Amino acid sequence: MQTKVKWIRGGRIITATEDFQGEILVGNGQILAIGSDLQALGLVGRSSGALGDVEEIDARGLYVFPGGVDPHTHLDLPFMGTSSSDDFETGTIAALSGGTTSIIDFAIQTQGHSLGEALNQWHEKALGKATIDYAFHMAITDLNEKTQAEIPGLVQGGITSLKCFMAYKGALMIDDGQLFKLMLQAKQLGALVTLHCENAELIEVLVQKYLSEGKTAPVYHELSHTAIGEGEATHRAIALSRVAGHPAYVVHLTCDEALHAVKDSLTRHQHPVYSETCPQYLLLDRKLYEKPGFEGAKWVMSPPLRTERDQEALWAGLRDGFIQTIATDHCPFNYSGQKDRGMDSFAKIPNGAPGIENRLNLLFTYGVLKNRISLNRFVQLTSTNPAKIFGMYPKKGTLAPGSDADIVLFDPTRLSTISVAHSKHRCDYSAFEGFKTQGEAVSVLVRGEWAMKDRKILATRGVGQYIPRQRFNAHQQWVR
Ligand SMILES: [Zn+2]
Repeated sequence: MQTKVKWIRGGRIITATEDFQGEILVGNGQILAIGSDLQALGLVGRSSGALGDVEEIDARGLYVFPGGVDPHTHLDLPFMGTSSSDDFETGTIAALSGGTTSIIDFAIQTQGHSLGEALNQWHEKALGKATIDYAFHMAITDLNEKTQAEIPGLVQGGITSLKCFMAYKGALMIDDGQLFKLMLQAKQLGALVTLHCENAELIEVLVQKYLSEGKTAPVYHELSHTAIGEGEATHRAIALSRVAGHPAYVVHLTCDEALHAVKDSLTRHQHPVYSETCPQYLLLDRKLYEKPGFEGAKWVMSPPLRTERDQEALWAGLRDGFIQTIATDHCPFNYSGQKDRGMDSFAKIPNGAPGIENRLNLLFTYGVLKNRISLNRFVQLTSTNPAKIFGMYPKKGTLAPGSDADIVLFDPTRLSTISVAHSKHRCDYSAFEGFKTQGEAVSVLVRGEWAMKDRKILATRGVGQYIPRQRFNAHQQWVR
């Protein structure tokens, strides 16, 4: 069924580069026209526009953003003997409620199995469930000749980013030689390698040391995953990327040590490296691990939360263009029944925390309203840059004729307090419980259809579509 043309009027339209009072016309799932006065063009009018009968949407007082693109989520992920608690239905509803209209999740190879198997599994997880659009990175955990032979076909099919873990030795990690080989192959094929940078050997020794001393509390997770170790691995990853002569993308960068390696590459060596951080690393700090009892387990993730000094370094990195994207690394596990598997050993606490629905409101409140980043920068970080870097632009990530009509109507005055009590995610706690926010997505269109209207979710399960992505092009995607 073809729905009526939609005419969004009276809002303040904000993209990565523009900011103006204007109107948007939406039809056939796409943006048909955008400008300050579409009536003047004769396309629409009270009764006699060229497009006939239209549905007018009053956006007065609202900001109009391109739909958010979250480039790092883990829905329905089997990990550490359990599975992340959100599936593609509940997780994407939570994302949608926060103004995110596309996610890139990770299909993760099981060691000893093929990449194709992993991709099929993730397609099955998402199909018929997702309420917003989705793409996949391929996480390569076992690189051998057979795996390498599968990669050209994957890239051809729109999986144009390959994730590697320098951490989780014995489970997900690949070694430096394999990583370097993969970078060379990615360069040849037009793919981007994304990296979880932590020194696995260092972590392993510290974990065993603390456990042998009977130190089992959550705080020892943080003490084993040092900022210095993250900085070292980030530097090493970038060194390999420089030798390969191909950009790399650092996922969930948390600290000044790691940011230093990125800055060095961008400034001293003029070698493009992209990096991503997450709201938890900007707003939460390591003191949470020292909460009494086992509560610190709620924030056990890798890399862990750092210091307030690191937070300030990350904010500066966002402002100055050294960090290009904000993702959530949403990977929820219930406190009761999942996190508590690690009651006797921090090393058994499933790594990860929820956050998929609070990316935009947190970054708006604590970034834009505190004058740390501009409104345009906010759109770049949450939508345009991830879409560009990962080959989804200009279908996603902007408001322009021909782009998918993924549109967020955002009320910049709306006050709220984050709480698990009214969160949409399927997890028994919120990592940001009690955080006050100003500004919230109130209505969202996904490919021109109402997905949320006045805070009511209208999207039904399965309407989300798979997004095959374009090849990575370093020259096109050189965004700061
Ligand atoms: Zn992750």
